Amino acid sequence: MAPRALTLKYRPQVFADLVGQDHVTSVLTAALESGRVAQAFLFTGARGVGKTTSARILAKALNCQNRKSGAEPCGTCNSCVEIAAGVSLDVLEIDGASNRGIADVQQLRENVRFAPTGGRHRVVIIDEVHQLSGDAFAALLKTLEEPPAHLVFIFATTDPQKLPDTIRSRTQRFDFARVPIRRVADRLLEIQKRESSDAAEGVQFELTDGAALLIAHKGEGSMRDAVSALDQVVSAGERTIDEALVRRVLGIPDHEAYFRVAGAVFSRDPKSALQQLHAAFEKGLDPRELAEGLAEHFRNVLVLKVDPERGHDLVAASNEDLAQLKQQGEGWADTDLLRLMRLAAEAQWPMRDSAQPLVHLEAAVLQMATLEPAESVAALIARLEALEKRLAGSPAAASAPRTAAAPARTAAPGARTHGFAAPASLPALGAAPAVPSPGFTPPRASEPVAPRPVPTATPRAPFTPAAMSTPAAIADDVTLDEGVANAWKQTIARVNERKRMLGAFLEEIRLVGVAGDALVLAMDDLHRSVIDSSEHRPIVHEELARAFGRPIEFRCTAGEPVTPAQRAAQADSLKPMIDRAMEVFDGEVIDRAGRGGERST
Ligand SMILES: [Zn+2]
Repeated sequence: MAPRALTLKYRPQVFADLVGQDHVTSVLTAALESGRVAQAFLFTGARGVGKTTSARILAKALNCQNRKSGAEPCGTCNSCVEIAAGVSLDVLEIDGASNRGIADVQQLRENVRFAPTGGRHRVVIIDEVHQLSGDAFAALLKTLEEPPAHLVFIFATTDPQKLPDTIRSRTQRFDFARVPIRRVADRLLEIQKRESSDAAEGVQFELTDGAALLIAHKGEGSMRDAVSALDQVVSAGERTIDEALVRRVLGIPDHEAYFRVAGAVFSRDPKSALQQLHAAFEKGLDPRELAEGLAEHFRNVLVLKVDPERGHDLVAASNEDLAQLKQQGEGWADTDLLRLMRLAAEAQWPMRDSAQPLVHLEAAVLQMATLEPAESVAALIARLEALEKRLAGSPAAASAPRTAAAPARTAAPGARTHGFAAPASLPALGAAPAVPSPGFTPPRASEPVAPRPVPTATPRAPFTPAAMSTPAAIADDVTLDEGVANAWKQTIARVNERKRMLGAFLEEIRLVGVAGDALVLAMDDLHRSVIDSSEHRPIVHEELARAFGRPIEFRCTAGEPVTPAQRAAQADSLKPMIDRAMEVFDGEVIDRAGRGGERST
């Protein structure tokens, strides 16, 4: 005899078999035990969570000939056997989707008028009841208003909102929950044990914990789907069911691919991230599936980060994978993990209709691998306020030679803390001890960044030609004296009055000196794109002319490449803050006008 499908064999026959619906079964059990059972029930919940199964158990319990004080049906009396086999005349099961008209309901009313044949109750189970037509509901309502004493209705639906209030209000409602993955997996392992000990009819197979979790995960909280998936894997005929087999049979991508791509993202290595992405693609993984899997991977890392204790219930992974997921999230802030998750999720949209979905995923992965750490909005505001104070406040602070403050700044790599940068970490306020704080996100050597200028120590020699890519022609006849330095400071101060953000950007670049009729400024591409924009260039020009007393051009030259250590120090500078703020606000910069400044870029 061919083995029965596990789905049928392990369909719950008593309330105790129902997994993850204790809140429902306890109330139903109490009602049955006290003999005060409602005449109309509404079972709601996602598909496959046990609504119809529970309805059948309830029908059996109501009519069981052997049930005495308890709630559970015996499963062996005529009534129980007939109901389980679906041949009982007292239990009517109707699919609301295919019997949705008024004629069907009228027919139903005829059928249920008479007393039950064998048991004590006639039970009408209407599945997907929300699909009934309005007329049918009206007809049903008449019966519901004055039901014969022997009649019990059980309505099941995935969509209770679509039921008329008049129907809903006349039912006792039970919301079936999705079953936690761990509980589904445990049930699958239990099924395996029971099969193993059933020498006569049982299917003999081994099931690893990881495989059980994977199948449970595939079921998305539906016990029925999970057991059905187990059936499918068992029918592959392998003695040992492990994760590899489950992935193959159910078509679940190899999660190692996600660990590798995510690993490269977490180590902020765009080159490796691309390589891993392509390796997964070449293995035959669909880009859309990859994107979905990546989003879920980051979600898992985030969940375990936010709630390391209870996160295990929400993440379908073996203990080894859980440990690895936790490890991947180390050193990352929740907000950044959330952004990674969002990037992966958002990449899926354009991929849907794209002929080249991989391209979108590549872009997303590159963006992920070069993500700047976000700081909290509070930190941003604190820093802007500190900056404003500094700019507007003491003239000494505003006009002190910027270069003098530089050593303090480069000496404080740990000053940028997780979520909040203390005002003490701002430049020019003295050297902070270089101790990284616990939440500090380490700088990445591998991240490709536009070179940024590094403030150097002495005012008179703010640059060394050897260390920067300045063309020799500029470097040779550059003049930088106190007059030029003061005029530049004045320019910044005036720009600050007009456009605080632009001023802040100017603060961050390095004055090289005057070469001929142009001021030479060293900056990276990011700063150049802001300062040399059509919107800002005229402002800088005007203020330069005012400060220098004559029209003067300005030339942007490349800043010198920064080392990771310098970069760490510079993480404290304002520009990344703005970038991060832009991320946080989806590209919109906060209007600071209300605080006395002008609208910024
Ligand atoms: Zn019975």
